[in-house]
Amino acid sequence: DVRVRFAPSPTGFLHLGGLRTALYNYIFAKKYGGSFILRLEDTDQSRLVPGAAESIEDMLEWAGVPPDESPRRGGSVRPYLQSQRLDLYRQAAQRLVEGDHAYYCFCSSQRLNLLKKEALRTGQTPRYDNRCRHLRAGQTQEKLAQGVPHVIRFRLDPGVEPFQDLIFGRNHHEVAQVEGDPVVMKADGFPTYHLANVVDDHHMRISHVLRGSEWLISTSKHLLMYRALGWQPPAFGHLPLLMNKDGTKLSKRQGDIFIQSFQRDGVLPEALLDITTNCGSGFNTNRIGRRVDELISEFNPSKITTHSALLDLDKLPEFNRIHLQRRIEDEEQCRLLVKDLQAQVRQTCTAEIQEEEVLHEDYIRRVLRLRKGHISSLKELASPAYSYLWVRPSVSSQQVAALTPEAQHIAFLVLKVVNISPLDLLTKDLKTLAKQAKATKYSDVMKLLRLALSGLQQGPSVAEMMVSLGPAEISHRVQKLVL
Ligand code: GLU
Repeated sequence: DVRVRFAPSPTGFLHLGGLRTALYNYIFAKKYGGSFILRLEDTDQSRLVPGAAESIEDMLEWAGVPPDESPRRGGSVRPYLQSQRLDLYRQAAQRLVEGDHAYYCFCSSQRLNLLKKEALRTGQTPRYDNRCRHLRAGQTQEKLAQGVPHVIRFRLDPGVEPFQDLIFGRNHHEVAQVEGDPVVMKADGFPTYHLANVVDDHHMRISHVLRGSEWLISTSKHLLMYRALGWQPPAFGHLPLLMNKDGTKLSKRQGDIFIQSFQRDGVLPEALLDITTNCGSGFNTNRIGRRVDELISEFNPSKITTHSALLDLDKLPEFNRIHLQRRIEDEEQCRLLVKDLQAQVRQTCTAEIQEEEVLHEDYIRRVLRLRKGHISSLKELASPAYSYLWVRPSVSSQQVAALTPEAQHIAFLVLKVVNISPLDLLTKDLKTLAKQAKATKYSDVMKLLRLALSGLQQGPSVAEMMVSLGPAEISHRVQKLVL
């Protein structure tokens, strides 16, 4: 069975890098008929951010990559929160101690700090000197009995075997040469990431670990733990990093890479998924406009390269425009967009809108169909540039008179054709009419219409406005010129 997991720490909110890791796990699971599991790694209690755990799961749901098993959904290997699985880690640590793969360490933080200082002073990388490895059994028992604070450390032995990473190929890090023995159980009774991660991947029957390449160098250490515990390790595949297009670290320059802020800004989730996969690898070809089901069918893990994925967020509006268009063309999704836009318009154009007429579903639908392919966010339609769609302008007689002395005459011409001419031919017909009525300049017709329809001297094209508003509303607005 294919079982993969996304294992974020709720020490922050979900950002684009995290969503991308989740997405590759999701499409991998779905491609091979497996399960996608969300596990929250909340063992560092001091760094927990309130609300982050809930929000991470919300954002995965919103993004359209919902987990099959999770803290909220439950599942056969629950719980999915590490802080609720402490017994499992204790048992594993115990087992490591009994097998002489781990030992109690009583070194005080003072001593560890001194070691660190000394190393830094002599230009070395600080590492634990493994002193407590050499305690005799009696000494350890005595200290435990006295209640001396302690941690448990894993004995890093040399002789790491190379492993085959699904993406990076053959890999091997002789960890014992560079690191002191790592802590696996902290003084507060919580495990560290490395132990908890191994124990959970084992008990949750994870078949493939797909995670960011920053964990590649830790994998040898994890494999030593699997071996010490007598467990079969999963397969590992490390995903290349997601970076800014200039190669800098994603979170550094762009503050706004949190999924919640994209959501708030009206970015469609499928546009986010599309842009993150398009700048990366894992597909036979890259193309804009894929939705998650297409990502699944076109996914080819053997195409994932080790190159960093360079993200160009300037292209996001383009992705959003294309996906918005797809939604508008889909009957069911368009209905939801109508509701959404109604709500937005009510919020932005408060007083003046005429509920039944202007916020009518058919009307909004027409507006959406006409504007699709031109707008990159629904928000645009609720912005001032499009307020003519929702609010009848108030135009004073002075404004009209300043434009042309022929306002009455022009209004009369317009009203004459507006009900009989098809919307898309209106401007053409008006041109003909203006030509026939020799006293009237076509440019005056257009200026006056723009003013009557939008209250503006410049702005969207008159033809666009007429098509969107439709004959009844055009008549209503032009009629006011006559009165
Ligand atoms: N909790 C780790 C993180 O936040 C998980 C790493 C892994 O997937 O093993 O990145």
